[in-house]
Amino acid sequence: MKVPFLELRPTYEELRAEMDAAYRRVMESGFYLFGGELDAFEREYAAYCGAKHCIGVGNGLDALHLILRALEIGPGDEVIVPSQTFIATWLAVSYAGATPVPVEVDPRTANLAPERLEAAVGPRTRAILPVHLYGQPADMDAIRAVAQKHGLKVIEDNAQASGARYKGRRTGALGDAAGHSFYPGKNLGAFSDAGAVTTHDDALAERVRALRNYGSRRKYVHDLKGFNSRMDELQAAFLRAKLRRLDEWNERRRRIAARYLEALRGVPGLILPHVPDWAEPVWHLFVVRHPERDRLQQKLAEAGVGTLIHYPVPPHLSGAYADGGWKRGAFPIAESLADTVLSLPMGPHLTEAQVEAVIGAVWQASESLAAAIA
Ligand SMILES: *Cc1c(COP(=O)(O)O)cnc(C)c1O
Repeated sequence: MKVPFLELRPTYEELRAEMDAAYRRVMESGFYLFGGELDAFEREYAAYCGAKHCIGVGNGLDALHLILRALEIGPGDEVIVPSQTFIATWLAVSYAGATPVPVEVDPRTANLAPERLEAAVGPRTRAILPVHLYGQPADMDAIRAVAQKHGLKVIEDNAQASGARYKGRRTGALGDAAGHSFYPGKNLGAFSDAGAVTTHDDALAERVRALRNYGSRRKYVHDLKGFNSRMDELQAAFLRAKLRRLDEWNERRRRIAARYLEALRGVPGLILPHVPDWAEPVWHLFVVRHPERDRLQQKLAEAGVGTLIHYPVPPHLSGAYADGGWKRGAFPIAESLADTVLSLPMGPHLTEAQVEAVIGAVWQASESLAAAIA
């Protein structure tokens, strides 16, 4: 049996009637940017997250960047970021002209380790940018305690965690603002690029609203040097229909994760994801670790199981940050994760038979690797 890492087409097939109706509604409305669909999506997604405001933007990177701009964080300022994440987290900071300051993650969760934050805070630090990586919330109370002590903003990178909960509360409403991505492969995925900012802060929301549209509050009056980062009506209409399924689809991911966690316990060499008791992850990715990761991936591919590596190169060692002058060894936890992580197939449309095939293939591949070492 072939198990692809992720298939997006089944999401369209399940929602065909709603998607086709959304397409017609928008095309016939005559409004393709800034119409009723975006307004409605913003209201619905804000309510879903438990945030006061939602502002739709072009993508997740822009969401984070516009938050930083709205907070006037820029050249000369430092923003604390996790040592391992998708590079967009760091790029948003660089894009704003500020400097990303990496702090090592907790090796068990790959999320910011709050106890390491204080050592990285200096006179130029303005904000902490935790990522809810793989769909699992970071330890927000501990992070906010450090932020409060030093007068820092907390900006959540919620790109991978739409619907997750931390101590019962939804991510996206746990800091000063949050950036969301609706890239097609994310848990709440559009059919193109799209993103959003959520916040409780009226002034911040108002500034992001202006910044996404050329810094304009009134048509052709430009108070700020803004950008063009808009979510179009079609994507907003598609996302409204998908938002109504998000909890159900996240629940399917949870059931698959529970099955993996139960059936893969004891696989030689394999380290399973760790879930702190206050976390309700939404399993954007199911990430295991293995000392012979590349050979495991190869064997799984031979068995027809598609896997990916999130992420093979930590930002500090990537060419994009060569100017930081970091050498291998600078962030050993991030580097060790990059060398050992492997993402198994995960998604709401994975069948039970496919899940069992993955489990069988992981056992077989790991046992043959263990036998080869012994
Ligand atoms: C996807 C992602 C982003 C960026 O979102 P885009 O919509 O692709 O711009 C930012 N941070 C993380 C952790 C992501 O996974």
